[in-house]
Amino acid sequence: MVKINENFLKLQKNYLFIEIAKRIKAFSAANPDADIIRMGIGDVTLPIAPVVVKAMKDAADEMGVKETFKGYEDSGAGYDFLREAVANYYKSFGADVNADEVRINDGAKSDCGNIVDIFGDGNTVLVTDPAYPVYVDTNLMSGRKIIYADSNEANGFAAMPDDSVHADLIYLCSPNNPTGSVYTKEQLKQWVDYAIRHEAIIIFDAAYESFVSDPDLPRSIFQIEGAKKCAIEMCSLSKTAGFTGMRCGYTVVPNDLEVVSEGGEKVSISAIWGRRQGSKFNGVSYPVQRAAEAVFTPEGQKQIREAIDYYRENAKIIASTLDEMGIYYTGGKNSPYIWLKCPNGMGSWEFFDKLLSEANVVGTPGAGFGKNGEGFFRLTAFGDRERTKEAMKRFKAMKF
Ligand code: PLP
Repeated sequence: MVKINENFLKLQKNYLFIEIAKRIKAFSAANPDADIIRMGIGDVTLPIAPVVVKAMKDAADEMGVKETFKGYEDSGAGYDFLREAVANYYKSFGADVNADEVRINDGAKSDCGNIVDIFGDGNTVLVTDPAYPVYVDTNLMSGRKIIYADSNEANGFAAMPDDSVHADLIYLCSPNNPTGSVYTKEQLKQWVDYAIRHEAIIIFDAAYESFVSDPDLPRSIFQIEGAKKCAIEMCSLSKTAGFTGMRCGYTVVPNDLEVVSEGGEKVSISAIWGRRQGSKFNGVSYPVQRAAEAVFTPEGQKQIREAIDYYRENAKIIASTLDEMGIYYTGGKNSPYIWLKCPNGMGSWEFFDKLLSEANVVGTPGAGFGKNGEGFFRLTAFGDRERTKEAMKRFKAMKF
């Protein structure tokens, strides 16, 4: 008889978004005229920049001509034109990344999940709590031990390392989903030093790096000295350039990153990851890679900035409302997420219900992202400007 991977049975049901949908449905049925504003979803809403659309159309045309048609891309790691564009982008903000360390993928989620394949099941995995659920789920699927580093009000939702606790694999996300907090260079340096001391590897998720506007804050772990000896970085064009429906991201594995096998042999992480990808992944489509290349051109950067600035202004509107109301929050300044403390000690779901029923506004209960999320709530800045303003007007009128 077929045996299932029993670890899948230990996964939590996809409770969060199902429960949100259930509560909205019940509320709408009872209040059919309610004008509900959704500020819970982490998807972008503005269209792809014109220069990017043109690049994709031109590439599609090339595919229809014998002389310029492209089949499989040989390396599977992405076309050189895009790997070089990504490396130059990194260099533009002071991160030392070479084109041969960049691999193109179909978005950060795939590699964040797939990277677990190359690490042994005996590793202890450290995840900050609260966290983007992929890190926990994919390690539970392979039966690994997970320990948590607390992100909470006391540390500004930026969990820090503790040398009395050993970890082999460490997931960090900055700017963070869901808390919007951003590590400083000094804080990331502490994580890098911890990883080197513990011979650990940091898996750094930089999916929201383009929202960092403060030049003193790091956008990549490779802006930190020593990171090339202990870190892998995943990034994405999803939120940076509206690629959630296009699917393109990139992972940086430093050429120098090595571990020692049980037999005492030095193993290159880049080589073993390349081997894994070679067997299980056939690359990203040519038109999408040409579109991604256009994102990194001067015109592309100018055009994508318009959308990022739009979302950033939405974040500012939300943050200043919370400032006026005297509500504690993190994020909103270098991040599209605003993570607020539910007023009057309310629980996350209690606040969800109150916000929905009194202001007809939907957000995401923090409890869905880990135990430290209880009593907190995530709002996103990816919505429409006028709807964001309206939501904040209604929020301000609420009585707590
Ligand atoms: N990492 C984080 C922290 C995210 O929030 C998301 C998406 O919301 C992703 C990765 C996945 O992005 P992609 O669309 O590139 O798969």
